[in-house]
Amino acid sequence: MASESARTGLHEAARCQSLLHELTGGSLGRELEIVLTLLQRVPCLVFIKDVEHRFVFANEMMLRSFGLTSEDQVLGATDHDIHPPELAAIYREMDDQIVATGQPIIDHEDRQMRLDGQVEVVRTTKLPIRDRSGAVVGTMGYSANLTEPTRLSEALIISEQRYALAAKATRDGIWDLHVRSNEVVLNPRAAHLLGMTVHDEPVDGDTILDALLPGHADRLRDAITRVIVEPTEELRLDVALDIDGEPRTVELIATAVVVDGRCVRVVGSAADITAERERERELFHQATHDDLTGLPNRRALMAQLAAGSGHLLYLDLDSFKTVNDSLGHHAGDELLIGVARRLTSLAEDAQLLTVGRFGGDEFAVLAPSSSSDQAALLATRIARLLSTPFRISGVDIYTTVSVGIVRFEATDDPAGVLRDADIALYDAKAAGKARASVFRTEMRDAAAEALDLGMRIRKAVEHLDFELHYQPIVSADTRRITSVEALLRWAPPGRPLEAPSRFLPYLEETKLIAAVGRWVVDESCRQLADWRRRDPSMANVRMSINVSRVQFETGGLARTVFQAIDEHGLGPGDVIVEITETAIGSGTPELTEQLSELRRRGVLIAMDDFGVGQSSLAMLCDMPLDVLKIDRSFTRRILDRTGDPVIRSILDLARELGLETVAEGVEADEQAHWMTANGCVHLQGYLLGRPVPAGDFRVPGSRRLVTSRSSRSKLDA
Ligand code: C2E
Ligand code: CA
Ligand code: CA
Repeated sequence: MASESARTGLHEAARCQSLLHELTGGSLGRELEIVLTLLQRVPCLVFIKDVEHRFVFANEMMLRSFGLTSEDQVLGATDHDIHPPELAAIYREMDDQIVATGQPIIDHEDRQMRLDGQVEVVRTTKLPIRDRSGAVVGTMGYSANLTEPTRLSEALIISEQRYALAAKATRDGIWDLHVRSNEVVLNPRAAHLLGMTVHDEPVDGDTILDALLPGHADRLRDAITRVIVEPTEELRLDVALDIDGEPRTVELIATAVVVDGRCVRVVGSAADITAERERERELFHQATHDDLTGLPNRRALMAQLAAGSGHLLYLDLDSFKTVNDSLGHHAGDELLIGVARRLTSLAEDAQLLTVGRFGGDEFAVLAPSSSSDQAALLATRIARLLSTPFRISGVDIYTTVSVGIVRFEATDDPAGVLRDADIALYDAKAAGKARASVFRTEMRDAAAEALDLGMRIRKAVEHLDFELHYQPIVSADTRRITSVEALLRWAPPGRPLEAPSRFLPYLEETKLIAAVGRWVVDESCRQLADWRRRDPSMANVRMSINVSRVQFETGGLARTVFQAIDEHGLGPGDVIVEITETAIGSGTPELTEQLSELRRRGVLIAMDDFGVGQSSLAMLCDMPLDVLKIDRSFTRRILDRTGDPVIRSILDLARELGLETVAEGVEADEQAHWMTANGCVHLQGYLLGRPVPAGDFRVPGSRRLVTSRSSRSKLDA
């Protein structure tokens, strides 16, 4: 806006200063300085020009209204430099008139259209300035903008316009608080959100505060005070209120409008974030609660452990796996829900308890109890609570619970607390389940030992430090060998052999049995083929191989068996696959499918340990089976005569179903005789031969080859 001459700045300013001196009689008196300083600050435009129409003084308001930042930009300039030509011409004419006539012009008004369409009215008064001789040497004037006399600054006008536009354009709520009057103007949306009927005109700010839920009014008042005091801060606050009984959360965001360093208004938006907050709450709930039971989950429990002190009761259902395996996942889920419900009712009775689920069949009860005796008592109460059966899909299901108890303090590492609870739980399980163990530091040694065992077993798998022992199975009638059962042994270097009970659970748990099982199949088939080459009496003897469920699911057992048979030149009928009824019961369709496939191709299937599991008779009809192996626990009962009727029924049933039978664990002549007399087809046990390494294996009874094919027996080839 300023012209070239105006931009020469300092030089002109100095010239103007001296001109002012001259105009005022040679000396700038103290009074004049004060007057000029005051004029700088008055809220209207004040200016002084020389006879050549050049500004020699312009106050702050004048500078600001022309968008100038420094006096230098206007001093020395003329109206033509800062106004549109028509307006500059009018002002020039007025100045000329004053110089010519020596008369002031008072309250001259001119109107201009503003950018936003509003007409601006400016009223100007101009006076001549004379030197000591009375000659007019300049003009002095002031202009006031009458459009909005209360407006303090251009900045405010601009923000006002911006606000008006925004309020119209947006569907958000807009609110505008006048600090001094405490009046608020709401646009229709903001009024709606805040439950107000009045909009677009001022309402008392307190009526809005009154509409908020308790506590929220204070928070909003504080937040507003903060931006007023510290206008650079942004206000951002969620407030809650009830509108027609509906809870609503409104997010308020606002900034201060500052004039001359002071906050005169607070202008902001209002948005309905009820649904958003609700969703966040839901997500938080989901993140901290268990889907199935709705109980607090591991994360929430860990947070509680970190926050307080008391006793953690770490619960693990003893029979969950069996329920899941025999009745299906749905029944398992139902059981978990049932347990959760009973635990919740316990927590409701004793309100200080927290109940949660760690996952699987593991639950937690947090009790603020002070002594471990109290915690143990609580464990007893829980055990009693869970001892009545759960009715699930028409069946009564009994479950017991093992509990690990550990004391925790807020200063403890929650992960460590959990580890100790787990160790105590392990101790309870090892002691026979259905009991509680309070953690003692010595238990860590046992746990470390278990950990160490796991590591050693892993190493054994890596190096295949295993061997197979072989036990004969003989015909009950002829006592001649019909098959050999391969039994797995762990051979840790430099240590005695270990039986399956020591390492099999770990192999199954970790599914490492899939790899080891493949080796068992291959090695036992290789051994049988080898024996057959060396010893003609083994020509028709079969190999009985134990397999676990995992081998079907991750090991592709059927393929492994067929491969081994091919590889070692055996036929499918040379192999018997032994699987326990528990494993079959928990089997996936995949397992049934592979069993059928094996059997279709001629491999025999034996159900191992029959009578100790929970299998139903229906399963016996459905499964592709050839052999029932009667568990050792029945054979033992022959000695005291307590097993007779049951074993007879099993033998009858097997005969009816066309299944062959093997009596396991035959140690005494009496057992062998009874089994034979009651129609059991095969015998197995220490009486007939112990499991031994391949090199020590002798065909029991006779060295003679069994050649005749028994009409009763498929095994008895
Ligand atoms: P199982 O299949 O019932 O094997 C028979 C178990 O009874 C063997 O125990 C055997 O040594 C033992 N036994 C045989 N005759 C008598 C007897 O007259 N009296 C007594 N008291 N015991 C006798 P072992 O070798 O400790 O095997 C235990 C279990 O480990 C087996 O029970 C079987 O379920 C499992 N197992 C063994 N080898 C393998 C394998 O290669 N793979 C899989 N998945 N499981 C295996
Ligand atoms: Ca077996
Ligand atoms: Ca068995």
